[in-house]
Amino acid sequence: MSFLRRWHRRRIRTWPFPRHWEPFLYEIPLFPRLPPSDQRELLGHIQVFLSEKRFEGAAGFSVDERVRVIVAGNACLLLLHRETEYFPLMRTVVVYPTLYVARYVRRGPGGVVEEGMEVRAGESWPLGTVVLAWDAVTQAGFAPGARNVVIHEFAHQLDLEDGGMQGVPVLPPELLEAWPKIFFPEYSRVSSSPWPTPLAFGRENPAEFFAVAVELFFADPWGLKAHHPKLYALLSQYFRQDPLSLVL
Ligand SMILES: [Zn+2]
Repeated sequence: MSFLRRWHRRRIRTWPFPRHWEPFLYEIPLFPRLPPSDQRELLGHIQVFLSEKRFEGAAGFSVDERVRVIVAGNACLLLLHRETEYFPLMRTVVVYPTLYVARYVRRGPGGVVEEGMEVRAGESWPLGTVVLAWDAVTQAGFAPGARNVVIHEFAHQLDLEDGGMQGVPVLPPELLEAWPKIFFPEYSRVSSSPWPTPLAFGRENPAEFFAVAVELFFADPWGLKAHHPKLYALLSQYFRQDPLSLVL
């Protein structure tokens, strides 16, 4: 990253946060629980995110400041405490008003191609776009069984930063050895088990497993830690955060 860009972002992080945006922050499930220093850091990241990313409404949805702040705030939780490039491959957030129908093409066992239509709450594209359904965004929570579609889709963007979606984000040197030793055995265990666990939604492939694990880490850390304590500890090291410590 150029010196100029870093300097520019540092300046943007110090911009005064608009007062009329403050109530929107309390619709981000984790925000009220963060320590003040993390809240301040998040506000800076939101300003940079909103100055660099474009938003578009789909199916007649009008993207207002509340939508932009809530999406940016959830996404930027993934950036706290780390050197960040602000999801460098991602340029545009497209927001639908409700769950939407999209076409899918999947390669199943034996290379059989399956095509059809499915209902979605969000998706993440390698070419710079995240798509979200606003009603799903507003249902995000921080509680046993809670989900968070913004965190899920932006976890896919972290995974994409190294050029592929394989369940491996760009890792700090201290996790290069530990990641494959913990992440892939946990994935194999869930994908081959008939028992439902909170991570069963991610059994399709390692990329999906990573996105669901990150989503649970921030939305249902109770479930993730109870069923996958090693994975919880690995994500805690990667994100330099411990969401269970934020329980009031
Ligand atoms: Zn996904």
